[in-house]
Amino acid sequence: MKTRHKIPESLRHPPPGAFPFPPDPLFCAACGQNSSPDEVERAFVRANIRALGAEIHPLWRCPGCASILAAGPFDPVSAYQSYPMRRDARGGSAPAHVGRFARNMMIDRWRLLRRFGLGPGQRILDFGCLDGDFVAFLRARGIDASGYDPHNARFSDASLLSQRWDWIVSQDVIEHLADPGAHLDWTMRALNAGGYLVIATPDAGRINLPRPDAMRPDAMIMDLHQPFHRVIFSARALDAASSARGLELSGQWRGFAGDRLVPFHNLRAALAYAKVRGGWLDALYEPVQLWPAVISAPLWVAGIFGGLVPFGRHMTRIYRCGN
Ligand SMILES: [Zn+2]
Repeated sequence: MKTRHKIPESLRHPPPGAFPFPPDPLFCAACGQNSSPDEVERAFVRANIRALGAEIHPLWRCPGCASILAAGPFDPVSAYQSYPMRRDARGGSAPAHVGRFARNMMIDRWRLLRRFGLGPGQRILDFGCLDGDFVAFLRARGIDASGYDPHNARFSDASLLSQRWDWIVSQDVIEHLADPGAHLDWTMRALNAGGYLVIATPDAGRINLPRPDAMRPDAMIMDLHQPFHRVIFSARALDAASSARGLELSGQWRGFAGDRLVPFHNLRAALAYAKVRGGWLDALYEPVQLWPAVISAPLWVAGIFGGLVPFGRHMTRIYRCGN
């Protein structure tokens, strides 16, 4: 289904200092459709890590599949060098609360994989494993786990990509790839018959593109995470792209792994806190600063009630390899 959006005149022109919106036909790497720049919903969003803080990037939504695509320039090699989620890039361990959140997340992932039958004797690859914490977590439970991450020298062994796996999991990874279709092609080749692909990623179908004043530290800046998120799939676009390759949806889970009912142990609270701290992702990996967070009403609401309802803008989808 193709929908046409009326583009307000104010959105046709980027804010001062922004990278320009492409004038050429726009190719959707999620569904393969081309769109005219005149018929797409668009936004300009500030980068949300401090090292790139001055950059304002253009985004657009594919009218065919509702996925959101980045249109600004991106050099992954230099950008990931200052990526705050990487231990070596931020210069050491994160505060204890980050460790607790990461551990809860791994416990939830483990439970999900167990439900789908992960056990000893199966080989699992964590694609985009960052510092390899989940790989170590799985190995400690007797699972034959490996990790791959091209931005971490410890996990950049490309020979893993030519091996076969019973499981490939990627947590918040596919949206970082410039060519997710090629990635899905590879997963199909790399999975054993009956193997599972587990993708956790934001759902563009649930994300509203912000108005052109999005340079303020809006919580949506985290979902859009410019310039790192290149292709944010809608659920239906991801299912269609997977199905076209013989990967059939066999399970789904809505929410953010690691959320707990314990006050402030949920993603909404983390986003509300980052918003208070200027909208920077870096703030989540730094020691907590109580002021002015302690007087933020949205942060208190998110902290106390944020774990009660699953975080709808994030999805986990489990696909079974049919060949
Ligand atoms: Zn599309």
